Amino acid sequence: MKAVKYIALALLIVMIVTNIAFEPKKCEKTQFCLDTVVTLTAYGKGADESIDKAFDRINEIEQKFSAYLKNSEIYKINNSPYNTFVKVDKEVYDLIKRALEFSDMTDGTFDITLKPISDLWGIGTENEKVPTDEEIKVALDKIGWKNVELDENTYAVKLKKEGMALDLGGIAKGYASDEAARVLSECGIENACLDLGGNIVVMGEMPLGLFESIKYGKRFRPFTIGIQEPDAPRGQSGQPVTVENGSVVTSGDYERYFEKNGERYHHIFDPKTGMPAKSGVRSATVIAKEGTVADALSTAFFVIGNDVDGKYKEHYETVIFSR
Ligand code: ADP
Ligand code: MG
Repeated sequence: MKAVKYIALALLIVMIVTNIAFEPKKCEKTQFCLDTVVTLTAYGKGADESIDKAFDRINEIEQKFSAYLKNSEIYKINNSPYNTFVKVDKEVYDLIKRALEFSDMTDGTFDITLKPISDLWGIGTENEKVPTDEEIKVALDKIGWKNVELDENTYAVKLKKEGMALDLGGIAKGYASDEAARVLSECGIENACLDLGGNIVVMGEMPLGLFESIKYGKRFRPFTIGIQEPDAPRGQSGQPVTVENGSVVTSGDYERYFEKNGERYHHIFDPKTGMPAKSGVRSATVIAKEGTVADALSTAFFVIGNDVDGKYKEHYETVIFSR
């Protein structure tokens, strides 16, 4: 009888040790950066230090790309005399160039020169207001992606009209997510899920523990991302999608907005009207290989309200609208 007890105990210990040994090393860290909550989750050896390096890279990107930090490259462009070339860091030049390519692709729906319009509305600040038609007309005269000139030889950027200013808020988070994933990958991380305030990038699959592995008959399963429903409480997972090595980004009217006289005024603008976009959709979610693409296109599709009959199909995998 005693022997049976010992064998049972030994078996239990073996099972516990095996489970601990089998359990993939998981590390998850959260920081407030890029004006949002960023949570990075990585699995495997070195996950902890790799996440720190990814956060360093995200913070570096914020320092360069924020339109509001006085030492940023974008701030430098916005506060230099107009109609003059301003030399910038190569990666800043490259992302501005890419953003303008999205403007071209979307017939100006995606536009990083909208800052005079977003400043006027002040959504999410203490100065938010519904501007007059005249104010909107004046601000509209200071925008337009075609008024940005680039010099490829010197990595310089010129804003051709007085009062122009850039804001990369519609694409920088996506770029940061791609860069964070690149850093993790260079550190040898194969499985990770990065959440930059709802801009998600997935690397590989989610490793399973011993008991889950036995239950599902495999060691990994794809990450499942819940798409936020516009009116559901924050964080409550909505419609689930599974993604492997790709990005999921949602742009919606419920992120930043104020309401006046029963009307909702949100932070994504139609460059043609200078008003918060009103295409009939509450949100647009884009799944694409690259976070930069998913970010820019989700903003554009939210404004357009559809993918214009698949005109952009070659650039992304899936688009989901909520109405
Ligand atoms: P979020 O930043 O809330 O995740 P988006 O990626 O859609 O959502 O970006 C919205 C931000 O992009 C706005 O805060 C503003 O800075 C900028 N923006 C607003 N309208 C446009 C537009 N039509 N094209 C490009 N950028 C835009
Ligand atoms: Mg975007």
